Amino acid sequence: MKINDFNFAGQKAIVRVDFNVPLDENGNVTDDTRIRGALPTLKKVLADGGALIMMSHMGKPKGKVKAELSLEQIVKNVSAALGVPVKFAKDAGKAEAEVAELKNGEALLLENLRFYAEEEGKPVGVEKGTPEYDAAAKEMKSRQADFAKKLASYADVYVNDAFGTAHRKHASTAVIADSFDADHKMLGFLMEQEVTAIENVLKNAQHPFTAIIGGSKVSSKLGVIKNLLDKVDNLIIGGGMGYTFIKAQGGNIGMSLHEDDLMLEALNVMKEAKEKGVNLSLSTASVCAQEFKNDTERRVFPINEIPNDWEGMDASEESLEKWKKIILESKTILWNGPVGVFELDNFAHGTGEIAHYVAEATQKNGAFSLVGGGDSVAAVNKFGLANKVSYVSTGGGAMLEAIEGKVLPGVAAINK
Ligand code: AMP
Repeated sequence: MKINDFNFAGQKAIVRVDFNVPLDENGNVTDDTRIRGALPTLKKVLADGGALIMMSHMGKPKGKVKAELSLEQIVKNVSAALGVPVKFAKDAGKAEAEVAELKNGEALLLENLRFYAEEEGKPVGVEKGTPEYDAAAKEMKSRQADFAKKLASYADVYVNDAFGTAHRKHASTAVIADSFDADHKMLGFLMEQEVTAIENVLKNAQHPFTAIIGGSKVSSKLGVIKNLLDKVDNLIIGGGMGYTFIKAQGGNIGMSLHEDDLMLEALNVMKEAKEKGVNLSLSTASVCAQEFKNDTERRVFPINEIPNDWEGMDASEESLEKWKKIILESKTILWNGPVGVFELDNFAHGTGEIAHYVAEATQKNGAFSLVGGGDSVAAVNKFGLANKVSYVSTGGGAMLEAIEGKVLPGVAAINK
């Protein structure tokens, strides 16, 4: 079912949202982006005349009740954003009374789902690999199914709008969907947008298609890189992960970040790129430092001739010029990961430039650009360019898994 085609009038809707918002030490919300992200879906339920039940996790309480992770702290924020009073159920697994009282047009938030270990469905306190583990895992799966059924029993219809956890097969993100028929389960508006943006790059990309993959480690993005080799025309690899590729080819990278055990994989990626006709573009020169801090001398070295006591911290003008040309000629752009240590202002230039090129390609050349994965989102925000790219994904891990070509359990459960 598509949410736009559904009329929530007289229906109790249970909506999985991602209200895992950052809090300060006094429990005040410091960034309500995630709450605002869910509003279109939540408001539709209320505007149609439905009763709204919201559920989410916050942090990692691992099956224990932790006051500092209580969602009660954000009730006022959700209420202000929605424009209606929000009721609160202190126990997500025993909310029958609150649900029964809930009338059409009213909103109820359930307590942090992860106060129940059943939400994640992983056995607690039993080590993986021990003889007890398999039995404990089996028992937990059955408890997870019961917990999911309990959540489902509160409502007539299930909506998943939590893209941030779409790559998890948790009670509220996937298992619960088994209790609803195809006409009574759907993705929320935010999820629909995320899925469409990813499909735009993975399935319907216009060419040239350029992926810019940066960040710290090859190991965390190898699956992404491999899947992209079948799809892109240009693959720009920058940031810390680039040095493993340079070292693998015999270059001197000084003290730069690298992973020796990934060098063979790096060479394989280069070979495969060549075979597939993908233009794999590495940095040619780096802005380097001798100490990992902001206020320190900066020098540019060819990336394969970095002296032993220097480390690469940012992309140089030479590399940026090369990448600018590629990016501005692209019709589809996917960007994940900074091309330097952008948290330090003196080494943020390269990442800022990339953000500008992606924005320019989008605004002037009509490219479709998707930016996603924690740090690259922080980067476009840092440079004030979030509104100048086509789509900024809200889910780091979920987006990476989708780009790896994995089916997201949260999406699959709805389409089943
Ligand atoms: P990731 O989470 O893998 O996307 O990595 C993001 C992190 O990579 C950021 O914290 C950056 O500071 C870091 N990073 C990018 N380039 C470098 C570099 N040349 N040396 C060390 N860290 C880097």
